[in-house]
Amino acid sequence: MTFTKEFESRVEKTIAKYKLLSKKDKIVVACSGGKDSTAALYILHKLGYNVEGLLIDLLIGEWSKIARRNIEGFCEKEGIKLHIVNLREEMGGSMCYLRSNIQSKVNLNNCTICGIFKRWILNKYARELGFDKIATGHNIDDEAENVMMNMFRSTFSLAAGMGPTAGTQEHKGFVTRVKPLYDCLNSEVRKYTEMKNFEIEYAPCPCSVDVMRMNVRKMLSELEQDNFELKRNIVNSFTKILPAVREKYKKRGDEGIRYCEHCGEPTVEKVCQTCKLLKLVATEKVS
Ligand code: SF4
Repeated sequence: MTFTKEFESRVEKTIAKYKLLSKKDKIVVACSGGKDSTAALYILHKLGYNVEGLLIDLLIGEWSKIARRNIEGFCEKEGIKLHIVNLREEMGGSMCYLRSNIQSKVNLNNCTICGIFKRWILNKYARELGFDKIATGHNIDDEAENVMMNMFRSTFSLAAGMGPTAGTQEHKGFVTRVKPLYDCLNSEVRKYTEMKNFEIEYAPCPCSVDVMRMNVRKMLSELEQDNFELKRNIVNSFTKILPAVREKYKKRGDEGIRYCEHCGEPTVEKVCQTCKLLKLVATEKVS
């Protein structure tokens, strides 16, 4: 079997093994224009799933322009419907504007701010557009890094929300998030997209400055040179203990979930994290 066929078959087996998707599901892939989400979108479409893409245009200069052009061209060529959400129209500014404004008041890194906004937009649009599942391009490397980071930061309770099906609480306001590339290494995804000749922006996001993540990535890659299956082993071990982690940290059903008093989105607090951050953008710095 060729590498590309084996790779596609592995994704199919991952979906079956973890019961991630059904052919009846209306699925949206969270697209970034990068290799992982493009590969996920392509393979789900090829396997006959009812799938569309959604790109959040973060407006991070030339990098976002190239990513948008690539995914628009890809979806047009493959006949896949693509939804685009413009961050300025949705949140009032580009990611660079929002994060610099927020960071002048609170100490949060770029990816934390970006992640909060992206999850909010993705969930809201997926629900309003009637999607049953959100598929993301997370691969083994991402998951292994997150496992280690949660251990190093002593935030293992957050790991309860990881795994092939993300999230810890069921609520009609939350669309289930799944990871079809859960059994695929970063290097394998790259090899696949290169062999398929997809137009991909391989350059990393210029705003990616999470020092802890970069250090963990470097450490795991160095260790993997002498331990071929290291990242896969971390994720396999984590997946085995995940039911126990969830049992310990998971809340029951929709326990504790309410609706944000500003935006009306589901949250565990009176005001959701997105609205708290947007309030900072609108507030003058108190010196
Ligand atoms: Fe956002 Fe960080 Fe990803 Fe860049 S690397 S798109 S800032 S989450």
